[in-house]
Amino acid sequence: MEKYEKVKKIGEGSFGKAFLVKSKEDGRQFVIKEIGISRMSNKERQESRKEVAVLANMSHPNIVQYKESFEESGCLYIVMDYCEGGDLFKKINSQKGVLFPEEQILDWLVQICLALKHVHDRKILHRDIKSQNIFLTKDGTVQLGDFGIARVLNSTVELARTCIGTPYYLSPEICENKPYNNKSDIWALGCVLYEMCTLKHAFEAGNMKNLVLKIIRGSYPPVSIHYSQDLRCLLGQLFRRNPRERPSVSSILDKPFLSRRIHKFLTPQLIAQEFSHAALHKPPKVCVAHGPPAKRPAPGPAPVSPAQKITKPAAKYGVPLTGRRPSDAVHRLSDAGKKRAERKPLAKPKQEAARKKRLELMEKERKQREQIFLLKAAQMRRFEKEKLNRINRAREQGWRNVLSSSGGSSPERKFYGGGGMMAPPPAQVPSHAPAQPANRYDHFLSALDQLAKPQEGVKGAGDVAAR
Ligand code: ADP
Ligand code: MG
Repeated sequence: MEKYEKVKKIGEGSFGKAFLVKSKEDGRQFVIKEIGISRMSNKERQESRKEVAVLANMSHPNIVQYKESFEESGCLYIVMDYCEGGDLFKKINSQKGVLFPEEQILDWLVQICLALKHVHDRKILHRDIKSQNIFLTKDGTVQLGDFGIARVLNSTVELARTCIGTPYYLSPEICENKPYNNKSDIWALGCVLYEMCTLKHAFEAGNMKNLVLKIIRGSYPPVSIHYSQDLRCLLGQLFRRNPRERPSVSSILDKPFLSRRIHKFLTPQLIAQEFSHAALHKPPKVCVAHGPPAKRPAPGPAPVSPAQKITKPAAKYGVPLTGRRPSDAVHRLSDAGKKRAERKPLAKPKQEAARKKRLELMEKERKQREQIFLLKAAQMRRFEKEKLNRINRAREQGWRNVLSSSGGSSPERKFYGGGGMMAPPPAQVPSHAPAQPANRYDHFLSALDQLAKPQEGVKGAGDVAAR
């Protein structure tokens, strides 16, 4: 760290802190991610180093440029370019409801796809595609960031990530505890495209259980017909529940309404380089991905790394999986499940008893899951409450400054006197009434309390409230 000077903390993500720093050598600004690795096992640490080496080999105009990495006092530091334009999430929120023009969306989409193609062609998965990991540079170029890191740190912080982080990009297969694959990245890309078109998340709910249900059903509000058929149709393809039916990133870029934009973002040499590569290595099939070849991919699926534990959101949040329980709502909605049930021959008594036992067992499991879900919900409510308390404290501090700087003649003090909400109007305050500084902010605080009252249900993440 001695080569860099910390300018400020720019965020605290699910994996650690992010700092804006200045190089002492040339004064250039960079972002440093600080990730605690002391609690990782040796194997995981090795895996992390291997993954960072993969990151180091990435170089693409639409990928945030990695600079270097080092380890110091139990932390892994990853140095990368600073994107001055901020992230797409902030950009979307700053629109205040005004939709982006289609031209803008398509230009961003093509750049994100070019980055993702570069990654997927190397048989590497991003695993954390979200609008907060897509950045804008000073000149408006879109860059995909944070790739690889999610995979490195997957096993140790996955639970925290799902609970505290942004669960909106979870794909149906991940909810159903199936392996993450390149098409899971494509689902997340669909979520980002949807956000660009609607300024909202495609799958939103008051609690994790309902969120997971919505994802598994693949039900999302339609995009404005203001956007072209091409764009809306692509979105439908990205949100196909069966990962195999989702297009690969190369075939997305093959679509004429997107391919004609590529030349705006890559030089002819880079186009040749990036696309001849695809001809050599056909777009990856749904591959249970991982073991990262540093340079070019070897054919066939790479071994699954130990850092590949998949969380079980569906089970964790008590959402029954399609086809498991004939009585549940998801199953009723599932056409495939219905057909299977219709085809089944009548059960014999012995089989019937076994079936009954199985159902009882399932019911028991379901109850256990429900309990886990309730515990988790309580935990998240606590988290939400703590957050609100923090906000309140900050607001209170703000009000204190406002009031103390406005002095004795401030309109607030004149109007409210010293007694807070319950104080009599100024005319009735006896002139000899003593000032009550301790209660001076009560009316603000109670009004703020009203505003900040925890909402019903559990929020999936902090940014539910932000939108
Ligand atoms: P998360 O886990 O949520 O992705 P990060 O640690 O990646 O959190 O990011 C924290 C904050 O730092 C976010 O607001 C993000 O926009 C910002 N940030 C991360 N990397 C960069 C970068 N290269 N350039 C500019 N801002 C960045
Ligand atoms: Mg990030």
